[in-house]
Amino acid sequence: MCQKAMYPGSFDPVTYGHIDIIQRASRIFETVVVGVASNSQKKPLFSVKERVEMLKKATADMDTVVVEAFDGLVVDYARKHSIGVIIRGLRMVSDFEYEFQLALTNRKLSHDVETIFLMPSEQYSYISSKLLKEAALLGADVSDFMPKDVQKKLKERLKR
Ligand code: ADP
Repeated sequence: MCQKAMYPGSFDPVTYGHIDIIQRASRIFETVVVGVASNSQKKPLFSVKERVEMLKKATADMDTVVVEAFDGLVVDYARKHSIGVIIRGLRMVSDFEYEFQLALTNRKLSHDVETIFLMPSEQYSYISSKLLKEAALLGADVSDFMPKDVQKKLKERLKR
């Protein structure tokens, strides 16, 4: 039986969609490690330190959630920390193909780790960090989709 799960991602920046998944995972597992990828290929807008800080703030009221930066393979991190479950969020059918590939690749790399998918509330099922960054850049109000301080940081960063 597994009491520890890892929710890996770029979280650039964290949105209410991510937080929704973290809350759901924390109701199932004793500990949820939110793993912030420092070697993301996505050229993040925020440094790994900033992304970790924003997530720590956003999950401050969740006692069983730990936020950590990591680099390298998710399965290596999981093995090293005795984590048996990887959590990923599924929004639309469009997520499925990539997530399916990723889950099967991770299974091939490590048979000890199982991927579990969680669905967010419908109100967050169409948002992504990427979309919100683009909308904010064009002046949209994204306050319904991310914590206030994250929105503020995003606005400041996009001004540069
Ligand atoms: P990655 O670079 O690993 O795709 P993301 O931060 O974009 O990192 O996403 C991390 C995980 O969170 C992925 O499984 C993604 O599908 C999921 N996710 C992202 N946005 C949402 C959302 N709005 N609702 C539910 N899950 C989401």
